[in-house]
Amino acid sequence: MSDKDDKNPFEDLQNQINDMLRKGPGIGPGMGINPQGAATPPEQDAEMDEKDAEILKRIREFGLKPKEIRDHLNRYVIKQAEAKKVLSVAICDHYNHVRQCLETPALREKEYSKQNILLLGPTGVGKTYLMRNIAKLIGVPFIKADATKFSETGYVGYDVEDLVRDLVKAANNNTELAQYGIIYIDEIDKIAGASNSGGKDVSGRGVQINLLKLMEDTEVNLFAPNDIMGQMQAMMSMQRGGEKKPSTISTRHILFIVSGAFDKLAESVKKRVESASIGFASAPGAGDDDPYAYLKRSASADFIEYGFEPEFIGRIPVRVACESLQPEDLAQILTSSEGSLLNQYRGDFAGYGVDFKVTPEAVQDIARRAHAEKTGARGLMTVLEQLFRNYKFELPSTAIKSFEVTTDTLENPDAALKALIVENHHLQDEVWKADLERFAESFRNAHGFSLSFEDEAAEVIITTATECDKAIRTICEDMFKDYQHGLQIIHRNTGRDAFTINKAAAENPDKELSQWVVASFKEIDTETDSTQE
Ligand code: ADP
Repeated sequence: MSDKDDKNPFEDLQNQINDMLRKGPGIGPGMGINPQGAATPPEQDAEMDEKDAEILKRIREFGLKPKEIRDHLNRYVIKQAEAKKVLSVAICDHYNHVRQCLETPALREKEYSKQNILLLGPTGVGKTYLMRNIAKLIGVPFIKADATKFSETGYVGYDVEDLVRDLVKAANNNTELAQYGIIYIDEIDKIAGASNSGGKDVSGRGVQINLLKLMEDTEVNLFAPNDIMGQMQAMMSMQRGGEKKPSTISTRHILFIVSGAFDKLAESVKKRVESASIGFASAPGAGDDDPYAYLKRSASADFIEYGFEPEFIGRIPVRVACESLQPEDLAQILTSSEGSLLNQYRGDFAGYGVDFKVTPEAVQDIARRAHAEKTGARGLMTVLEQLFRNYKFELPSTAIKSFEVTTDTLENPDAALKALIVENHHLQDEVWKADLERFAESFRNAHGFSLSFEDEAAEVIITTATECDKAIRTICEDMFKDYQHGLQIIHRNTGRDAFTINKAAAENPDKELSQWVVASFKEIDTETDSTQE
């Protein structure tokens, strides 16, 4: 049996509790507890309160119109016109209802069908991105989870109610704000009962029923039954005079979005449409090679046949299919979406003062390669990462301040990078010298001695760095690692605090340093002799 197996299973918990009791006064009135369970200082709390109050005010005064939301989404998300339209309307309806309930609390008691939304469509086409952008626009907390990780309530594992608790964490434990948040559940198609593959998947059905309750209106306990630490923290906070916080949260105004690729459903709807259109040459939708194009024609019956409980699918009234992205859409994402990855890379390179251009042909080429990945816009990430990987590593240490990505670069990024470096080799000396100066500056800050490098010494250091494929700084730190001690002795003997690194010091740093030290002692002797004379 290993040491690990011998360990008392409650030891960790005990240690945490002891730790909490020791730090006790830290978690008192005025101190919040962040999602990791650590206490947050009062100033940070005050700042958070102010921000939360602003968001709550925005929700209470919600007045956006569907077209305004659509226009905001257009800045970031390419294509998906239908999804943008449907989502904009659903969001406005939802938050208008929330506002009305806040204005007239009696409305809360009235029957209201929530606008829970089902987003269908292949991976990487912007389903999550649409919702993230909406949540950001309104300022409400947003979380995303995969339906596949749920187990039925009461079983060990991730429970659907944990979603709500995670939303509270995302709202920095502000339950008031969390109750207007958005929960996004992906891979919902994976929890369909397995009626189409024979046998009944009991746990999938159970999860659907639990989710259904959550999507309607239920009170969720803020602490999971096994979250002893959370319960204790709340108790201690109260005992120390903190205000009594609610122990449950209502899901009535939480907006649920479920999504999935539903590829098998797409295939079966395609078959249904195609067989119904036999004999009709131009039946709508027929002849489209992309099975996802058929998702928009799916009806409740298709979902039930797919394995969803009728009540479950019935409570998700808003359904919209997102389209597959074609190479020209991917090219547009690169060039005109505000959140474009290319812009992100531009920002990363700008951090080193490097600017780059991409020719229109290269944009098309990147889009084509990304499309071949069959992962939607995520393919762009794969292609750009492969393209820029070595550029991001090498260019910050070179004198190159701009470069152009062409179709040749895409064909062989490493060869293009090498050629670029060779082309700019004449500028490299300046960068290396600047690196030496940066080392000298950090040495001065750390030890109080200024170092300057003779040209011949700089040459030796640069050659060593290039030969070992190391940064100038690494080489210098290694070469002069003992210099501060020697220089201190010299300083004591002679009062000197500026030193010149000559060729000999660069070639054999320790030997040269000891000669300098010896010489400094001799200097004292000569001084003493001359005073004695
Ligand atoms: P999914 O449809 O699987 O939820 P995401 O929305 O998470 O895919 O997309 C992954 C990333 O790809 C997004 O963060 C975004 O950067 C980019 N992206 C996807 N679709 C689009 C789109 N239609 N317009 C602009 N960017 C997009």
